[in-house]
Amino acid sequence: MYSVHYALAVVNTIHQMLEAERRVLDVTTAGRLRVGIGYPNTYRVGMSSLAFQWAVELAASCGDTGVERFFADPGVNFGRTLESGAAIGDLDVLAWSCSFELDAAHLLSTLDAAGIPRRRNERDHRHPLLVMGGAVASINPLPLASAIDIFVLGSAELLWPPLLGLVREIADREHLLAELADRDGYFVPAHHLGADRRPIGKRRRIEKRDAQMSDPAMVPASHVITPHTEYSGRGLVEMSRGCPEKCRYCWVSYNYGRLRCYPTDAILERVERLRGMTDRVGFVATAVGDHPQLAEILEECRRRDLDVALSSLRIPAMRAEVLGPLADSGARSVTIAPETGTDELRRRLNKPITNAAILEAVDTALRCGIDNLKMYFIIGLPGETDDDVIGIANLLRQVQNMMVGLGRERGRVGTLHAGFNVLVPKPYTPYSREAMLSRKEARRRMQLVERGVTGVANLRIDRPAYRESLWQAYLSRGDCSAFTALETAASGCSLGELIADHRAEIEQSALNPVEGDPVWQFVTSAPVRRTEPTSSTDQPAERLRVKS
Ligand code: SF4
Repeated sequence: MYSVHYALAVVNTIHQMLEAERRVLDVTTAGRLRVGIGYPNTYRVGMSSLAFQWAVELAASCGDTGVERFFADPGVNFGRTLESGAAIGDLDVLAWSCSFELDAAHLLSTLDAAGIPRRRNERDHRHPLLVMGGAVASINPLPLASAIDIFVLGSAELLWPPLLGLVREIADREHLLAELADRDGYFVPAHHLGADRRPIGKRRRIEKRDAQMSDPAMVPASHVITPHTEYSGRGLVEMSRGCPEKCRYCWVSYNYGRLRCYPTDAILERVERLRGMTDRVGFVATAVGDHPQLAEILEECRRRDLDVALSSLRIPAMRAEVLGPLADSGARSVTIAPETGTDELRRRLNKPITNAAILEAVDTALRCGIDNLKMYFIIGLPGETDDDVIGIANLLRQVQNMMVGLGRERGRVGTLHAGFNVLVPKPYTPYSREAMLSRKEARRRMQLVERGVTGVANLRIDRPAYRESLWQAYLSRGDCSAFTALETAASGCSLGELIADHRAEIEQSALNPVEGDPVWQFVTSAPVRRTEPTSSTDQPAERLRVKS
């Protein structure tokens, strides 16, 4: 039972959160249809997600729809909405945007906090309809299929407003589910799972095409700015979808399709919308540096006196015409992902970038005024040898030498931050059937790296969070039976306790290669075919890189 002091503290926190928010949109909580948009993590993490903010904006654009937010955050009205404090069980629809497998259990604890039964078959029309979108829904919805009524597979713009339209039209829950089950882009467990809880047939993901990218109203951008996010007061704008590369471990590249960029005018329109609330803008995308007019966009932001940040850059995109304006607008740090230490392994994972090219890109960044560098690596790539791992340490040493050399000339030496992950084999990638590295072997390989960088100053190393990766790997390739482990996780135990309780099935699934026909491989992606070129942004990525 919560105390009166706790309840007062929560009320104060909510008041402070709402007071600190600046908005460009009036989102009404009143409407014939009442929809709650949830994020299965704290307010701070949820409000840092552009996908979450976009789901709210899309729902608010549907007529006669009241929209409220809720979070898995004991400090911010757990089980109730942020705006009106309504119990989420009283709403018509609850929809989560879920980007990380590790958040899946928080979705169940949110149901517990609201007194809503976790299982679909224990709920009826008196309970809200439960919907889930985001990357986790498409990577593998099976672990949550016992709880969620409808999974949205693909672009929210194309699937979320039509879903709400049908909810308004079709009052009967059974008819509604049957109607959605007949449409591409939705996975409806009540219709698409057999008696053995295996998917029946294939489901199709739907992604935005070029024509849909050119509508300025369809460019996702923040509509709430708050200091209480990872980006503190920065408004985000999406720049593109897809990626020109196909790195063999990357789920995004195999599911979001080829690179499609939003037109420059549409992006700048979104920037202008944010300008009334903040002078800090962040451009996000899987391949943000590949927008062919990025240099012009950055220059325009500089003219408008905006402080700009970019999400991680692909190494070929680290060019002076991008990094110069970026540094001029206040950026002091960039993030890149060499992934491994040798050219040969990088070539085999389909990322044909050499160490020489990486060092050249770092040199360009430093000379443009960037001080700090973040580099991401993956341990446990198929075929990785000790030479590849030692190559990471060598690369870090060389980068740090450059940072010290150039930094001394400028009178300031920045920090090199190396983040490590263990490979989590993802469905629908060429590595989907691979075994994940054992904990012992991951530790041994990390020791090789750490020995190789002994004595290197200004280098911060973040070791892999092995247990999190193991749990993530299990959920990525789990079937409906993984719901049992999710229920344990939702009970509030530590990750160590969770893995100890379910060690046999977690390790069996994650640490062994997959044989036969995997149950989770049932979502197909419609090819994102080229329609009519809509602008100069609609160019083949390879040509763009040569041009640059
Ligand atoms: S460059 Fe990045 S987003 Fe593109 S395929 Fe490789 S890892 Fe994925």
